Amino acid sequence: MSDCIFCKIIDGELPSAKVYEDENVYAFMDIGQVTEGHVLLIPKKHCENIYEMDEETASNLFRVAPQIANAIKKAYDPKGMNLVNNNGSFADQSVFHFHLHFLPRFDETDGFNVSWEQHNDDYTPEKLQEIAEKISAAL
Ligand code: AMP
Ligand code: ZN
Repeated sequence: MSDCIFCKIIDGELPSAKVYEDENVYAFMDIGQVTEGHVLLIPKKHCENIYEMDEETASNLFRVAPQIANAIKKAYDPKGMNLVNNNGSFADQSVFHFHLHFLPRFDETDGFNVSWEQHNDDYTPEKLQEIAEKISAAL
């Protein structure tokens, strides 16, 4: 897509620090380095988000994900690693070409923060089953 910065990176029109490339995917350093070693993995085929991804594009991308994660792990020996994918502005997506963030984790103050609330007490097994059926019916 002509006005997509990640398509431009793939085409070499914009610079990037490349980590990995094959015929289907491209991995490079996130310019923001939330934690050191922060890598983005993207499909070469432009798709805006997870909803637009076809099976082949998804499998080509996720096939490579363990290799990227293991390379970061080997290079940095982090205490953990978060994989993040944001879809839609409300979910903090700012570049509308699908990307998977790899964020090595070092300590509590390494720059990465995520907080969410669990609501176990609000959901009975029956309610969970009802929700599962609602989603299942939409498959
Ligand atoms: P998101 O907010 O999930 O859409 O993530 C977009 C990411 O792209 C951010 O972490 C940015 O730092 C990163 N980013 C934006 N422009 C560039 C660029 N030219 N090169 C590398 N990373 C970029
Ligand atoms: Zn694109």
